[in-house]
Amino acid sequence: MKNLIEKLYSTGNLTDSEFQRLIDSNEDSGLLAEYADRVRRKYYGNKVFLRGLIEISSYCRNDCLYCGIRRSNRNAGRYRLSRKEILSCCETGYELGFRTFVMQGGEDSYFTDDFMCSLISDIKNTYPDCAVTLSLGERSFESYRRMKDAGADRYLLRHETASAELYGKLHPSEMSFENRMECLFNLKKLGYQVGAGFMVGVPFQTTQDIIKDLRFLQELKPQMIGIGAFIPHHDTPFANEKAGTLELTLRLLGILRLMFPKVLLPATTALGTIAPDGRERGLKTGCNVVMPNLSPVDVRKKYSLYDNKICTGEEAAECVACLQRRIESVGYEISAERGDAL
Ligand code: SAH
Repeated sequence: MKNLIEKLYSTGNLTDSEFQRLIDSNEDSGLLAEYADRVRRKYYGNKVFLRGLIEISSYCRNDCLYCGIRRSNRNAGRYRLSRKEILSCCETGYELGFRTFVMQGGEDSYFTDDFMCSLISDIKNTYPDCAVTLSLGERSFESYRRMKDAGADRYLLRHETASAELYGKLHPSEMSFENRMECLFNLKKLGYQVGAGFMVGVPFQTTQDIIKDLRFLQELKPQMIGIGAFIPHHDTPFANEKAGTLELTLRLLGILRLMFPKVLLPATTALGTIAPDGRERGLKTGCNVVMPNLSPVDVRKKYSLYDNKICTGEEAAECVACLQRRIESVGYEISAERGDAL
């Protein structure tokens, strides 16, 4: 594998069959991590950017088969944050040093364009040095345009899979692969900094599907790529499926860092959920972003996308302190910057 890793390091690309061999092997993972770390340090030094994640709603009109807050899950606790609660999360976050707020939620029609635009411009006026990131799923071009005009800087919308066939196995037929792709290109067209991504080890996923994801990312050129292991949720049709592995997730993080040297790569909560040191290992394999939870503690357990999600019990300040320790324990440091992609 050494030759393939070195080719990827020096050229940023491999053929499909080379990717297949590299992804399917578990050899030389230390070497892959070493090269990935070398590349991340070349561009970002030892900096790790913080994103304050505010989970604004657990209501969702969609029915993704893997997700714990899918609309058919009658057992899911539902909540939505008020404008005041969201602003109060931002206030706490700002004091803790966050310069990016990510508002994420299920697709909840309560959060109309008018509501979001007024909230976004309020946040931007109060914290002009902060970036506002949205992660609210699929919306119309017009809706994305209005929120961009109101001051939103970034949008996270994982493509989930670049294979139309696999997409069809993970979503009900009323959901459209083409629309999700179109949303991503619309966001780019509107000038958002975009985050795409996919789950690792989701049911039915093959190595060929993962290679399609890598090719799609080469085409889209997002500023951020979020990947995390699939983890089953007990109240979904995938309750009895196996979780994705730490090893494959780390391997893909290393590959992504070598393919996209300047991309923002988060060590996700899902990575910390499948292994106690998952996020630290992600940081050592090219990751340069962490997204601590800023949501009010009393709602956190209800934003249950998958089982055993970590960080649902602590206050934001405790989360930051814990992450700071973890980041420093592996030789990196938290950056006080907004953390735009280079
Ligand atoms: N409604 C928004 C936010 C989705 S939640 C949207 O459509 O973008 C954010 C991400 O969590 C999803 O994009 C999905 O990739 C991930 N996710 C959902 N269920 C998961 C599970 N069971 N295991 C791991 N990740 C999951």
